[in-house]
Amino acid sequence: MTVFGIEDESPRPVAPPQAGGRPTFSFELYPPRNEAAAEALHRSLAQLVAASPEFISVTYGANGSSRGVSLDVLRHLLHSTAVQPMAHLTCVGSSYAEASQLIREFLDAGVTSFLALRGDPPAGAREGDAFLGDLGSAGELVQLIHRVQAEREPFVQLPVPGFPGARRIAGGQKVTIAVAAFPNGHPRSRSIEQDLDTLLAKEAAGADLAISQLFFEADDFLGFVDRARTAGVTMRILPGVMPVLSVAQLHRIVELSGETLPVQLLHDLESADDPAAVGIAHATRLADRLLAGGASGIHLYTFNRHEAPLAVLGAVGLLDSARTPA
Ligand code: FAD
Repeated sequence: MTVFGIEDESPRPVAPPQAGGRPTFSFELYPPRNEAAAEALHRSLAQLVAASPEFISVTYGANGSSRGVSLDVLRHLLHSTAVQPMAHLTCVGSSYAEASQLIREFLDAGVTSFLALRGDPPAGAREGDAFLGDLGSAGELVQLIHRVQAEREPFVQLPVPGFPGARRIAGGQKVTIAVAAFPNGHPRSRSIEQDLDTLLAKEAAGADLAISQLFFEADDFLGFVDRARTAGVTMRILPGVMPVLSVAQLHRIVELSGETLPVQLLHDLESADDPAAVGIAHATRLADRLLAGGASGIHLYTFNRHEAPLAVLGAVGLLDSARTPA
């Protein structure tokens, strides 16, 4: 895709996720599927970047189907914007060697922030099937990313203050790794305790941050965070919020995520003259309650559009006044 051409080759250090202070916001994009979608994304991306998010994450198609295009978007963010890009990676169906090669390819491109996922097995697959690959969980991918980076850059030489020309050896650059969290339970999970154990295992494997699956009630997320803290999870957990702009979109995301259909939201969208306004108002109330309940930031699923996510952020006061939509 030519619209994501590289304009600047200067490398950027990893910015660790902000903790404390003003709540953060971040965005998720998916790689465009054709040239027209790439041009539309380019226009929305300029608006999203101008809002100065903490990071922008770029999804990764199942079985690596979007590998090249995801990398194009990530390279554009790295080299033409000041925003930290985060690469989603999935490992289901990959051998250790294939997953290591994939990680190296993204590190070589300059990506230093990842969202590590196992990903969905193909329909009908059963755990233990050989074609599901070598990595049995997202936690194993977290470990593998850290290992590949440590092998690639085992140490760095740093200047010694006051001794010109002297160098000291320090551990190599660490990468930032996020993982997924499921406030209402993952569809394959047997219990919420299993989801909490899985999240704890991801942190133990070296994850720095969790980003949640979408949900429709603030208490679903806030209650989950309370249980996660009691279980021993200490990393940041960002709520994933999606402004749902139509009835069709609501049905689609419920089908994809396995969440329970929110009946009131469905009714409000069905009876509205302007369903998008209803969806934005719903996401704004949700974000307001999450921030009031102590969420350290909001991660917005953008569907590659800027209008609704920026409207939500403006309404909850997270945008600088110059960027707040009228
Ligand atoms: P895990 O957390 O490892 O597992 C999910 C749950 O399944 C666990 O909580 C556990 O309860 C249960 N489980 C795990 N292993 C077993 C087992 N052996 N037996 C029984 N139960 C088990 N998908 C993509 O393809 N590309 C993307 O870019 C992408 N981005 C995402 C971003 C976010 C923020 C989220 C929330 C999801 C995303 N997904 C993406 C979807 C994701 O791949 C699926 O939800 C997947 O099923 C779970 O991924 P995971 O790696 O977090 O799994």
